[in-house]
Amino acid sequence: MSITETNVTRELFDKVILPIYAPAQFVPVRGKGSRVWDQEGKEYIDFAGGIAVTALGHCHPVLVETLHKQSEKLWHVSNIFTNEPALRLAKKLTEATFADRVFFANSGAEANEAAFKLARYYATNTISPYKTKIIAFHHAFHGRTFFTVTVGGQPKYSDGFGPKPADIIHVPFNDLDAVKAVIDDHTCAIVVEPIQGEGGVMPATEAFLRGLRELCDEYQALLVYDEVQTGMGRTGKLFAYQHLDIVPDILTTAKALGGGFPISAMLTTETIAKAMKPGTHGTTYGGNPLACSVAEAAIDIINNDQLLQGVEQRHQWIVQKLEALNARHHIFTCIRGKGLLIGAQLAPEYSHRIREFIQVAAEHGVMLLSAGVDVLRFAPSLLISQDDIEQGMDNLQQAFAQVIGE
Ligand SMILES: *Cc1c(COP(=O)(O)O)cnc(C)c1O
Repeated sequence: MSITETNVTRELFDKVILPIYAPAQFVPVRGKGSRVWDQEGKEYIDFAGGIAVTALGHCHPVLVETLHKQSEKLWHVSNIFTNEPALRLAKKLTEATFADRVFFANSGAEANEAAFKLARYYATNTISPYKTKIIAFHHAFHGRTFFTVTVGGQPKYSDGFGPKPADIIHVPFNDLDAVKAVIDDHTCAIVVEPIQGEGGVMPATEAFLRGLRELCDEYQALLVYDEVQTGMGRTGKLFAYQHLDIVPDILTTAKALGGGFPISAMLTTETIAKAMKPGTHGTTYGGNPLACSVAEAAIDIINNDQLLQGVEQRHQWIVQKLEALNARHHIFTCIRGKGLLIGAQLAPEYSHRIREFIQVAAEHGVMLLSAGVDVLRFAPSLLISQDDIEQGMDNLQQAFAQVIGE
């Protein structure tokens, strides 16, 4: 039997897709701005943003037009040739940051894979062949390739696949003394998310990040910022490191970079980049003209003071609504995060019911994320309107009242 559009249902997922996800019971078919519609025509307010990806909402007219135009010009040439959109995007990323050089890939994991390989390659080739140790943090998330998932601080994701890449050590996040206890001359890199996203929307403290920078300088190790989730305006600056001006040696970004088109980037300095030469690393699709043209349009829109100030304004709207909701229902113990990466930690009596909160939110027309084991995460479009926030929060208030039986 051929599969026609009408019998493509959520049930089909359980038959044909590798059983590694547990998607919501509805199937989205269309989106515009911060609204999404499912197969039944039901409308949702999108507070999830495709996990901090659709930073300009769904089907932003400028991105649609850019993609359309590029799709009639040139789709793909591989890295045997360079292309104009990749060159323009790299130029814009370097002009907007500390970096001189860019490597493009297609996902956060691939950007991190490149970052960790670069850190090891740079250290072992320019300082000492024994300089391979990577220090990372409990509850960190860096992607699902075997190297990146091993650097990530959640053994439940890296166990079960045989021997792991070696010389990676995990210590508690925001604990500088724990880093001091393990860092040595064999350390090539410290890898950190300025705000742990998947780990529960947990911001690093300023003292911790400054301390990491100093330790890296002292031990000739590279500071790698994983800004896959915090990058591209998410926290109210183009990159989160720009809030404190603690400058990393390598920065990775992905999620919002293409506004929904798969692309990632690893940024670094000339000194570090020149450890590598043609053939040291590579990818077929990375820097693809379709992806780069969309990302260029996205950065042109996002790297703008007015837009970035709007992120702060939206943060306040959402947090005020969450606090009002909490004053009534006492669901959260803490609301944290920066810009439009916001976490609401469920009180202990509700934490085991997090899936129910998210499911009932969907029934009330709101798309919402979890993070860690007990945190509700908001990562909407940077352009979400006040109306959409208000309607979404009103719906959430009803949903949460239903869950807790009030
Ligand atoms: C999502 C994420 C990744 C992995 O990105 P993929 O595109 O899923 O490979 C890596 N690091 C952080 C901080 C992330 O949030």
